[in-house]
Amino acid sequence: MQEKGTISIHTENIFPIIKKFLYSDTEIFLRELVSNAIDATQKIKRLASLGQYNGDLGDLRVEVAFDEAKKTITISDNGLGMTADEIKKYINQIAFSGATEFMEKFKEAKDANEIIGRFGLGFYSAFMVADKVEIETLSYQEGAEPAHWTCDGSTEFEISEGNLVERGTEITLHINKDSEEFLSKQRLQEILDKYCRFLPVPIKFGTKTESVEDGVDEEGKPKYSSVEVDNIINETNPIWTKAPADLKDEDYLAFYKELYPFSEDPLFWIHLNVDYPFNLTGVLYFPKLKKDFEIQRNKIKLFSRQVFITDEVKDIVPEFLMLLHGIIDSPDIPLNVSRSFLQADSNVKKINSYITKKVADKLAELFKNDRKAYEDKWTDIGLFVKYGMVSEDKFYDKAKDFVLLTNTAKENFTLNEYKDKVEAVQTDKSGQLVYIYTNDPSKQDAFIQSANKKGYDVLLMDSPIDTHFISHLEQKLEKTSLKRVDADVADKLIGKDDVPEHILTEEQATKVKAIFDKAINRPAYKVELESLNPDELPVTVTMDEFMRRMKDMAAMGGGMGFYGSMPDNYKVVVNGNHKLVSRILQDENEDVQSQLAKQAFDLALLSQGLLTGADLTEFVNRSVNLI
Ligand code: ADP
Ligand code: MG
Repeated sequence: MQEKGTISIHTENIFPIIKKFLYSDTEIFLRELVSNAIDATQKIKRLASLGQYNGDLGDLRVEVAFDEAKKTITISDNGLGMTADEIKKYINQIAFSGATEFMEKFKEAKDANEIIGRFGLGFYSAFMVADKVEIETLSYQEGAEPAHWTCDGSTEFEISEGNLVERGTEITLHINKDSEEFLSKQRLQEILDKYCRFLPVPIKFGTKTESVEDGVDEEGKPKYSSVEVDNIINETNPIWTKAPADLKDEDYLAFYKELYPFSEDPLFWIHLNVDYPFNLTGVLYFPKLKKDFEIQRNKIKLFSRQVFITDEVKDIVPEFLMLLHGIIDSPDIPLNVSRSFLQADSNVKKINSYITKKVADKLAELFKNDRKAYEDKWTDIGLFVKYGMVSEDKFYDKAKDFVLLTNTAKENFTLNEYKDKVEAVQTDKSGQLVYIYTNDPSKQDAFIQSANKKGYDVLLMDSPIDTHFISHLEQKLEKTSLKRVDADVADKLIGKDDVPEHILTEEQATKVKAIFDKAINRPAYKVELESLNPDELPVTVTMDEFMRRMKDMAAMGGGMGFYGSMPDNYKVVVNGNHKLVSRILQDENEDVQSQLAKQAFDLALLSQGLLTGADLTEFVNRSVNLI
C-alpha cells in the first residue's frame, strides 16, 4: 500500500500561520497529544463495554518518551488506533476542510487556545514544536492493517504501510531547532505535572528508582535495595471524581496539601457535583486569609475532563470568590478555552451562579448546624461574606441571615439579632436607627467609652471591606444609618430630644470660643461650643461622617477624587458644661486661659492619635514644664 496526495487547501502553506499564532503557548502540544491518546484509550474501553470490541483490552495506558540524540518526543497509547482511511478522515481532512474559513478568522484570533479551540487543530499543535510528525497506528478493527503517516509541515502528507503489531497509536515528533528545550526530562515532567496530573488513564514517563525491603541483614534489620519502576505521572482518580460520601476530611485535607504544599489547612470546603443543566464537579476550599490578598488570588484550577486548562477562572467563579482555592472540572467548558471564549459561553454564566448558590448554601448550613464553630471562623469567612453581599444581590439575599456583626466586646449578632439588641436605645427622635461603629478601637477608645456610657453599643468594622459593607447596609436596611463613633460627641451621635441645658451665658460662650480659637489657631480645626453632659470629655475632635467616608473612598480609588483633594477638616467640640470651661472663665490671666485651652485640645488629639511629629514633641516639653 502506497499512496500520495495533496491536502486541498487554497493557501500554499498553513503551518507558518499556525506556528506564528500559537507560538506563545507552545507547551500545550503535549496536552493536546496526551489528551488524544487518553481519548483513544477511553474510546476502546467504551467500545468493549458496548460489546463492539471483543479483544483483550490489556492495561490501558499512555506513554510519553523522548530521545535526546534523535531529537524526538513520542506519545503512544494502546487505544483504538486508526485505519489509513480514518487517518485521512480525522487527521488530514478535519484540519484542512475549514482552511478557508480559518484563513479568514485567524486574523481575529487572539491566542493559541482560541485557534485550536475553534478549528479542532489539537493534533496540529504538534507542528509548533516539530518539523516532521509521524503516526504509526493499528486499528482495533478486525483485519485492520497498520498504517504510517508522515508530514513535514508542508501541505504534503504521505501514507504508507505501518509497522505496529499491537493495537494503538504512536505519534513521533521530530523536534525543531527552536523547541529543543522540550527534549529535557525536567521540562517534560513539568508540563505533564501541569496539564496531565489528574488524567484518568495511567501515563508513564520513563522510570524512577524506588527502594524496597529486601530481606533482613545479619542483625535482623530490614535490608533495602533499589528497583526501577515505571514513573506514572498522574493520579487517575482525583477526589473530585469520587462521591462525597466516600471521602473523609483527611482526604480533602490531603488533596489540599497536594495542590498547595505550603499553605495552612483550609477552613472548610465544598464538594461541587451537578449533572444538570450542565455538568460540573470540583472541590472548593475556603483558605485562611493572609494580609496580602493578591498572592492568594487565582488559585482555582480549571479542568475539563480532568485535563488542566487554566488558573484563570475569572468568569466562571464570581469575583468575590476569587480567593477560594481548589479545582473545578466541567466537560461543558471546552478544552481549548480562551478568555474571550469563556465570556461568550452560555454555560459559564450558569456555572457562575451555581457556584454562588452552593457557597451560600454551605455557609448557611455551617451557621445553622454549628454556630460556635462558624463564629470562630468568622474573621476569615466574614470577608468573603461581606464582599459577596456587596457585589452580588442574589448572594446578599441569602447571606443576610448568616452575616455577623461583631461589637467591641467581641459578641456576634445576626442582622436581626442586632436590631433587636439596640433598637430601644439607639433610635433617634425621627425614628431612625443608628448603628455606631469603630474602625480603630485603640485610637477611638475615648469615644467608645463615652458611647458605652450612654448605653450605646459599638460595632467593630475594621476590615478592608467594611467601608463598602457599611454603605451597602445603609442601602439595604430600612431606616438605619451607620455612624463612626468619632463622627460626633457621644451626646450628639444619635439625635435625641433630651439635650442637656447650657450652663454658659451667650457672652461666656463667645468668650470661650474665642479663647480656644486663639489657642488652637489652625484653620483646619473649627471650634464649636456644645452643651454636653458634664461627665463628657472637655474637648473632642471629630470629623464629619459624610466627609470622612468620601475621603476614605477617594483614598481607596473609589472615584471621589474631589473629596480626596480637600484638606482634612475637623470639628473641635468644646463641652461648655465641663468644669474645665468654668475654670478657664474664672482665670483672669489670658496666658493661663490660653495654655489650659491648648493643653485640653492637645490631650484630645493625643488620645485620638492625631498628635504626631514635632507637635507631639512640643506637647511633651510643654507638659513637662507645667509639672
Ligand atoms: P480533537 O481531539 O478535538 O477531535 P484533534 O486534532 O486533536 O482534534 O484530533 C483529531 C482526530 O484525530 C481525533 O478526533 C481522533 O479521531 C484522531 N486521533 C488523534 N489522535 C489519536 C490517537 N492517539 N488515537 C486515535 N485517534 C486519534
Ligand atoms: Mg484533541
